[in-house]
Amino acid sequence: MKYNRILLKLSGEALMGEKNYGIDSNRLEQYAQEIKKVKDLGVEIAIVIGGGNIFRGVQAEKTGIDRVQGDYMGMLATLINAMALQSSLEQHGMYTRLMSGIKVESVCEPFIRRRAIRHLEKGRIVIFGAGIGNPYFTTDSTASLRAIEIEADVVLKGTRVDGVYTADPEKDKTATKYSLLSFQEAYEKNLNIMDMTAFTLCQENNLPIVVFDMNRPGNLQKIVAGEDIGTLITS
Ligand code: UDP
Repeated sequence: MKYNRILLKLSGEALMGEKNYGIDSNRLEQYAQEIKKVKDLGVEIAIVIGGGNIFRGVQAEKTGIDRVQGDYMGMLATLINAMALQSSLEQHGMYTRLMSGIKVESVCEPFIRRRAIRHLEKGRIVIFGAGIGNPYFTTDSTASLRAIEIEADVVLKGTRVDGVYTADPEKDKTATKYSLLSFQEAYEKNLNIMDMTAFTLCQENNLPIVVFDMNRPGNLQKIVAGEDIGTLITS
């Protein structure tokens, strides 16, 4: 395997599937199947899932809720998604642990780095819910930070496009895809791969990122096996 320990980042928005809000059960099922294929290869898997399908902190201000409160609401939204994903993975026979950035004692464990690593070594899939537990951060930053902490080989950012393009491929038909980029190039070209906090954490810690289409069956498996899928951003 090219990667033995991965941090998979899934956006909350992707979980909506064809819906306008919430969780699409077909999408959840599809993700569980894709993750199972990689688990069966013996890869250690940690997952960070976003909350954009339910609530984002920036939305709060529009409704008169203050930003920090909104961010905590966003973190709780990620936890709802994480619980749904955990359930779905377990239905497929995978062992999982949910670790939260904020304490929700009756539902999951708090994030403790050494415990997270131990779970991975024992073959459990670890899902990190509630972000890093602080407002003004995103789940992309959570993915970078947790990946560094657990010494993952790579951050795999599953999206609905098949990589990083010269322009938005959904708006500009002439846009072309990069298969390989250096952090420096991505920065200079102002390519929106992750927010700057998340991106800089990866760059400074030499942690590669692969941006890929999570909705295409088999992609995740191919990436861990070493195929050139999506865009690889590396030092
Ligand atoms: N959030 C936060 N701190 C974190 C992670 C997330 O405050 O460490 C909040 C923030 O309001 C964010 C929301 O949770 O908008 C949902 O996460 P995100 O927007 O990253 O989800 P995605 O875009 O991946 O669906």
